[in-house]
Amino acid sequence: MLTRKRIIGLRPEDISRELGKYGFSINYGVTLAQKIYRNRIKRFSDISNVPKAIVNWLEQSFQELYADLTYENCNGADGSVKYLFSNAEGQVYESIYMDHGKRNTLCISSQAGCRMGCKFCLTGSIGFKGNLDAGRIVEQLLAIPESKTVNRLVIMGMGEPLDNYTEVKRALEILTAEWGVAFGKANITLSSVGIIDELEQFLQNPLCNLAISLHSPFPIERAMLMPSENSNPIEKVVDLLKRFPLHKPLRLSFEYVALSGINLTQEHARAIAELMKGLKYHLNIIPWNEHSAADFKRPTENELESFTRWLNRNGVLWTIRQSKGNDVGAACGQMAGKQPPK
Ligand code: SF4
Repeated sequence: MLTRKRIIGLRPEDISRELGKYGFSINYGVTLAQKIYRNRIKRFSDISNVPKAIVNWLEQSFQELYADLTYENCNGADGSVKYLFSNAEGQVYESIYMDHGKRNTLCISSQAGCRMGCKFCLTGSIGFKGNLDAGRIVEQLLAIPESKTVNRLVIMGMGEPLDNYTEVKRALEILTAEWGVAFGKANITLSSVGIIDELEQFLQNPLCNLAISLHSPFPIERAMLMPSENSNPIEKVVDLLKRFPLHKPLRLSFEYVALSGINLTQEHARAIAELMKGLKYHLNIIPWNEHSAADFKRPTENELESFTRWLNRNGVLWTIRQSKGNDVGAACGQMAGKQPPK
């Protein structure tokens, strides 16, 4: 049996090209994209105001929407929901829905697994299992029951988005376009270790906010925590950020996993301020979430208190982010592509 193409992941011009090949009006490309992405129809037969012949053609030419995607969900005690997706390509990846009152955030994955190998991250410990294409990235938002209540998206799940930038960029186009999901660019954040070449591409035409994983301002220590420092030094990343600043309403932040006894000294606070001089940014401190693949320790209240005091003295604006979904293995750095034991 021939495997039929998937339509989720296509842009209006791609759909129009297919329509044209079969003698249909190419003007329906935008309409069909809107039905799929903005209206979130679940089946081709739900499409209205389009000739029946086009609906029939969709049913014969493409796989039915979401037909080859399955997911299990697992509810955390704090209201977060972890979705574990499996697709026909055999990939397994996760999204986390977090209800913060008015802010309903979905954290989505860009790859199955990850090849960056950050030492504090469970995803890094399972290795790389493949890139997700744009359709698989966007589907994580479209397929879940809370789809229409999500008003913040973060690309911070499994994977390094700039290691799969062609597909992530296409997904961002679909998510932000008027013919697509029409999500505000300032309501999406891409989180990256900072891969120089792709970061420059991103910064030349940014489609969302950017969060760079810092974790240490000292190159040797950062390389110990994040092997990507060896090929993509933080100094070069910061230089690029200074050359191509983000403009309002887009924002730059740095992620800082707080590891007890390691990266929370006065020298760290001072070096962060020094490194970032001239940049407009915010530091998000994430107390480390414990898991079995690493033996770091979560910081004490005292450590966090002193560190943030030193940050204040050095003029660094910061927030401590308490991760959600800890009990279901869904907090930052805990994604392993499986459900927790029942
Ligand atoms: S922290 Fe992000 S980039 Fe690093 S290994 Fe985990 S998923 Fe990959």
